[in-house]
Amino acid sequence: MSGRVMGDAAADFRKLSGLIRIVGHRGARGVFPENTMLGFDYTLAAGVPLLEFDVVLTGDDIPVITHNPTLHAATFRDETGQFITNEMPIRDLSYADLCRYEVGKIDGQSAYGAAFPDQAQVDGLQVPRLADLCALISRPEHAAARLLLEMKSDPVLAQDTAARAHFVAAVLDVIRSTHVVGQTVLHSFDWAILAECKAQAPEIPRSYLSIASEPQFQLPPDIPAHIKAEGGALWCPHFADITAADVAYAQSLDLGVVVWTVNQTADIDRMIDFGVDVICSDYPARVQRRLSDRGLRWQ
Ligand code: MG
Repeated sequence: MSGRVMGDAAADFRKLSGLIRIVGHRGARGVFPENTMLGFDYTLAAGVPLLEFDVVLTGDDIPVITHNPTLHAATFRDETGQFITNEMPIRDLSYADLCRYEVGKIDGQSAYGAAFPDQAQVDGLQVPRLADLCALISRPEHAAARLLLEMKSDPVLAQDTAARAHFVAAVLDVIRSTHVVGQTVLHSFDWAILAECKAQAPEIPRSYLSIASEPQFQLPPDIPAHIKAEGGALWCPHFADITAADVAYAQSLDLGVVVWTVNQTADIDRMIDFGVDVICSDYPARVQRRLSDRGLRWQ
């Protein structure tokens, strides 16, 4: 590694000799309800301190942890216990409104639910606030915990620079006021959001998501060089998009390479062989098991 000054949090997303990092995706979506405090508790208890999750803003400016800018029919239940059919924008709801929904179960009749047959089904879970997770990891026993904090782009507001600046400011206010800046990496597919993060908080490391198959995310021809020029710390390609040479090239630019979302054993093995820094998985224990079997550590 070069002598470039890097935030502590980004350093903890880099591999070491005999050690590859694991990130729990949305907590551990394969085994516990996604983006819930229960899932984060489980992931930390399993000895995986790196947590990926998704943040959007409510109508009353509370950063909350959920994947979509709208309610998600396959995971949100209303006060009658039924899965919802109206996927309302979260920006049209207050945090109090959002707390009327439960998110601890998945609709097994949906294609989304069918993809996660082992996920625990739990009553009484609500969408957490970003502040709730920050409070958890600021406890001394979780000093090793690190946040891969994904800022979700709302398609309706994607070109609204004031809305973007407001969203970034709200997130930064939470992580600063809860004193977890040194435990946080800011992460997004929307590189305009990351540019705003750089402007408002240049000291906090940034992670650049990419996926080749979705054309709405316009990618530069040399993605690692672009991220390097932006001062980014991590490149997060979809695992199917990369070769071992891509990984080596990005690492030669002193970028950490975090691949997502790697759930099948054969794919986990291939990513280990490619030499990635971090494997992000809905099944972090499955990655632990492969690393353990191959004589590697993750922490
Ligand atoms: Mg995410």
